[in-house]
Formats: sequence, structure tokens, C-alpha cells
Amino acid sequence: MQGLVRLGLTGGIGSGKSTVAQLLAELGAAVVDADAIARELTAPGGLAMPLIAATFGPDFIAPSGAMDREKMRVLAYADAGARQRLEAIIHPLVRQETQRQTLQAAGHGHAGIVFDVPLLVESATWREHLDWVLVVDCTLATQISRVMARSALTRAEVEKIIAAQSSRARRLAAADAVIFNDGLTLLDLADEVNQISHHFGLSSQPLSFNQK
Ligand code: ADP
Repeated sequence: MQGLVRLGLTGGIGSGKSTVAQLLAELGAAVVDADAIARELTAPGGLAMPLIAATFGPDFIAPSGAMDREKMRVLAYADAGARQRLEAIIHPLVRQETQRQTLQAAGHGHAGIVFDVPLLVESATWREHLDWVLVVDCTLATQISRVMARSALTRAEVEKIIAAQSSRARRLAAADAVIFNDGLTLLDLADEVNQISHHFGLSSQPLSFNQK
């Protein structure tokens, strides 16, 4: 996998991280979505399900056969030991699937691979598998209004989610590059992503600028 650029992409909820991931994919990068992998592992028939059932018991399995996310969220929030046991099941499987998708991307001739990891800064192990970290940032007020606009969550609920994530300062301290996605049109954002993708050697396309 020599020469394959590995870029970690992170940002708080509502920062625009998924939008940036999508733009990078359009520019030719392969995108590995860590959250989607974790969700698949705990979906009905997911690879993590037998171990989750054996460790936590049938109470944590929904009728569909998926992990009961809400129950597990409450338990993991209240009991650090349970959270660690869950992570000990999920993380190695996420790592395995990530490696499989990385090899696949290399085989398909991508110039780079983007690891979309919401909790990158919180994790002790992700950084060592990455060449660069790109943080998508915006103000707290923008974060709150974007998340409220796209969901049924109240302001208090959004504030609680944000408070449970890393602080802006901690994320920014981990960044090799930052996109300040605030007061930008989507076209402006696409231009920035285009330049960043060339800067990190991710794009398979020539540098181009949108017409404004
Ligand atoms: P995240 O993945 O960080 O939670 P998203 O990429 O889903 O955030 O963006 C949150 C919402 O804000 C989406 O509806 C997205 O379309 C919108 N959005 C993000 N950046 C911009 C921007 N520069 N201009 C307008 N809307 C934006």
C-alpha cells in the first residue's frame, strides 16, 4: 500500500464532516466510514452480535436481532466497565473491516483513502494509522443550528451531544489542516475541499475551481 495517502477526517456533529467526505469521494478518494462499519457490525446478523449477546445477555438484543442501541447507550453512559467491554468487542472488528476496505481501495487504484471517524480525537489508536488529520470546524452556534435544522432534536439535546464529544480546542490541537466551514456557501466549501485534496495528494482529478 505504498504511496496510498491516509487522511483522517473528523469534526463535531453538524460541522459538515459528512459533506466534506462526500466531496472528497467525488474527487476520487476512497472513503471508509467508521460509524457505518460499527453500525453494520451491530445490525441483525452483524459480526459483533454473537459476542454482544454472550457478554451482555438477551436484554440488549432487539427483536430484529440488532443490538438494542438505546439500552446499550444508557448502560455505556452509566457504567464505564460496560462501555469498555463493548469497545473491546467492537474496536478490533472495526479495525479488521477498516483494513479490508483499505486493501480494497489500494487494489482499485485510489490515490488516497479518507477515514471518516467522528471520534478520532477520542481514540488512542486511530492516529498511528493515519498520515494526516483534517478537522472540519465551525462555531458552536452554527453546529447547533445545522443539527436542529436536519433533525427533530431540541437545542438542549443537541447541546448535550456536543458536550459529550471532544471540545473544539482538543480537535483543533490534533489537526494537520482545518476547514473552517462557517459562513461558506457549499460551493466555497467544495473549492476548499478541492484544494485540500490536492494538497494531500488525494485527488485523481486536476485542480479545478467552481464558477461563481
Ligand atoms: P456532520 O457530518 O459533521 O454532522 P453534515 O455534513 O451532515 O455534518 O452537515 C450538517 C448539515 O449542514 C447538512 O444538512 C449539510 O448539508 C449542511 N451544511 C454543511 N456545510 C454547509 C455549508 N457550507 N453551507 C450550507 N449548508 C451546509
